[in-house]
Amino acid sequence: MNSRLQAVRGMNDLLPEAIGDWQRVEAVARGIFADHGYAEIRMPLVERSELFARSIGAATDIVEKEMYAFQDRSGDMLALRPEGTAGCVRAALQHGLLHNQQPRFWYQGPMFRYERPQKGRYRQFQQIGAECFGIPDADIDAELILLTARLWRELGLSGVTLEINTLGTPDDRQVYREQLVAYFGGHRGLLDEDSKRRLEQNPLRILDSKAPEMQALIDEAPRLLDSLGGASRAHFDRLCAILDRAAVSYEINTRLVRGLDYYTHTVFEWVGEHLGAQNALCGGGRYDGLVEQLGGKPLPATGFSIGVERLVDSLRAVGVSAASATPDCFVVSVAAPAGEALVAAEELRDAGLAVICNCDAAGFKSQLRRADRSGARVAVILGEQESATGQVGIKPLRGDGEQQTVARADLVATVKQLSKG
Ligand code: AMP
Repeated sequence: MNSRLQAVRGMNDLLPEAIGDWQRVEAVARGIFADHGYAEIRMPLVERSELFARSIGAATDIVEKEMYAFQDRSGDMLALRPEGTAGCVRAALQHGLLHNQQPRFWYQGPMFRYERPQKGRYRQFQQIGAECFGIPDADIDAELILLTARLWRELGLSGVTLEINTLGTPDDRQVYREQLVAYFGGHRGLLDEDSKRRLEQNPLRILDSKAPEMQALIDEAPRLLDSLGGASRAHFDRLCAILDRAAVSYEINTRLVRGLDYYTHTVFEWVGEHLGAQNALCGGGRYDGLVEQLGGKPLPATGFSIGVERLVDSLRAVGVSAASATPDCFVVSVAAPAGEALVAAEELRDAGLAVICNCDAAGFKSQLRRADRSGARVAVILGEQESATGQVGIKPLRGDGEQQTVARADLVATVKQLSKG
């Protein structure tokens, strides 16, 4: 016997029972982006591996361990995109979109990371993201945060908190890096294996460590916030002032460094209390060096991305669920001439109704059962007798209306009337 094939580990089917929640999230997000002047952009799922090594950073977990990289048949090294920012910058550069009047973009789509799958962490997952180019001010960082806060509000999501931090400029970071190397290097004996490796390559990432034995040491580490240059401090203070003015509450988390190398100044994360271990719902920040790193002229940029699986899980946890779509009517047909049922269904759809048409030769009772289960308000009945007399039966399925027989010509008007109620 042939064995049955399964989906790839960490890559999930999205089944019809969940799709309503996903579509609701997508629709609300799409509306909010439109209301803020963000243009949608769609990039390929596959890019050259080099794009991610140059942007995310060769010494990050994502590029080192998690990328689906492969050689294609012509020998090019390609990768499934692990995130959207690099591809968005690449596309905007390639098509000359960076310096026009429309600096705000959004996108959605699947991302791929070879991580250990667990609840809330998958190898294919969906992100909704936004990127804004050419605006150096903290105001646009704040706009992105306000936009996400609005998204949670409009979706009905509660139980999320905002954490913010600043990573300063590359110069600030260089000074800080030396402080960290001196500090952690002085306690080398207390470092776990991961942190020892990071000490050489990317000491800021030690702050990100979740290892319990590292926490006390990290708590005592120097803070970048304490040694920021004046301009960086002013950027961060302005962001905080805007959030205060807009009554968005936040916590300053000086250990928030985020996994990607390209951030500067603002970084933020929305954390969901319903999410368990994988509690980051949305991450973002400023990445002023990236455009130049990818071959463009220096250009400030800032963005975020939301994990849609986690957002849908959070919405379900707070009891917000989209109603599943039900048809207005169900066409039952028993021994009617060929095509009668489908033509009646087409006329009803032309009038704006959602219709399911029975398409097999099941008996009358079982078709009526299907009609009932479909959630339709009304069953339209085409039988041998109705067809012979130029009539149709109409049976309300909800409430207590009586079945009636009307002239075929009155079908649409009658169903419309009944399905409104
Ligand atoms: P990042 O690109 O790592 O900043 O991730 C942005 C958001 O995407 C996170 O806050 C998560 O909500 C989501 N996310 C990241 N990695 C995964 C994953 N492996 N599975 C599911 N969601 C993820």
